[in-house]
Amino acid sequence: MIITSIETFSNEYVALVRVRTDEGDEGWGQASPYNADITAQLVHRQVACHVLGMDASNIEAITQAVIEREHKFQGTYLYRALCGVDTALWDIRGKRAGKSVSALLGGSVSSFPVYASSMQRGITPQQEAERMLALKEQFGYRSFKFRIARECGHDIDQWPGRTEEIVALMRKKLGDEVNLMVDANSGYSPEKAIEVGRMLTDYGINHYEEPCPYWELDWSRQVSDALDIDVTGGEQDNNMIVWKQMIDTRAVDIVQPDICYMGGITRTLQVAEMAKQAGIPCTLHSANLSLVTLFSIHFMAAIENAGKYVEFSIEGLDYYPWQDRIFTPGYKISGGEVSLSDKPGWGVEINPEWMALADYQASYHASRF
Ligand SMILES: [Mg+2]
Repeated sequence: MIITSIETFSNEYVALVRVRTDEGDEGWGQASPYNADITAQLVHRQVACHVLGMDASNIEAITQAVIEREHKFQGTYLYRALCGVDTALWDIRGKRAGKSVSALLGGSVSSFPVYASSMQRGITPQQEAERMLALKEQFGYRSFKFRIARECGHDIDQWPGRTEEIVALMRKKLGDEVNLMVDANSGYSPEKAIEVGRMLTDYGINHYEEPCPYWELDWSRQVSDALDIDVTGGEQDNNMIVWKQMIDTRAVDIVQPDICYMGGITRTLQVAEMAKQAGIPCTLHSANLSLVTLFSIHFMAAIENAGKYVEFSIEGLDYYPWQDRIFTPGYKISGGEVSLSDKPGWGVEINPEWMALADYQASYHASRF
């Protein structure tokens, strides 16, 4: 089963990848969102050139070949591009086996809990609490994540007092029975992170994401050592040496790889396995409603050390208009859980109207000519 073509359909935000083989297989994947038009170029220039002609069934060898042949370019763009091909190959693997990707990975459930994830910190505490409350009633969410601090904020809040106000208000409005989670997006020094963490503990927050600049692993470890609350992180990381260090030193209590930033399912499975060996749960990062969340649902529903819920963005088309009508069927949330199809592969169809509006590029194996 030789890979004969790799095509991309892209715009500034999303790049979908279609892989075909000499035996008539067709798989769909997605590169990492944002600057996806640039990433699509990488798919052709630095991934397809190595992958065309390889055996589509050996995804692990394909991943390794790309990383080794592009060893001078290991970094986010290479992994963002690799994800497009990796996830398309997992689609083919599933279709060939007649199983969903989740079932291939050992999963057997038809739905999985999600948490309602806010992407906004310009929003006032009152507005955030009101929209979360409405979503709780509409979709039955039992877990909610909101933003505190300022992104890479050097201990300065988004505006004075916002963090203290939103934490207190969310608990008051949503009640004591829900899971509340916060994301500081690299906002604090260790000292400030610990001080804020004590306040979070008082309000029963159970997930404290990226309190310190994420590249300062030792700072995160100081925070997780000082607090009982789960310190979490890793969404941006793609280097296995960094993951090993993060896990070995217990810089975080929960790892949060992002399938698209990692380069696909294959490398994310390696991180989840490393965490499992250390007794650490894995709660993937999936912060928008493109295919990354679908990949994450399949993955989380299957792995043994999955965290309690999949991240599900609550931002709609007013905030992220580019998420619209990429594939069908769309996500369905009910009772705080997202449903999971048992159709082969990813179980979705790409919308032809979306494809027609995207920029198209193709790379072919020489055997085609
Ligand atoms: Mg985050």
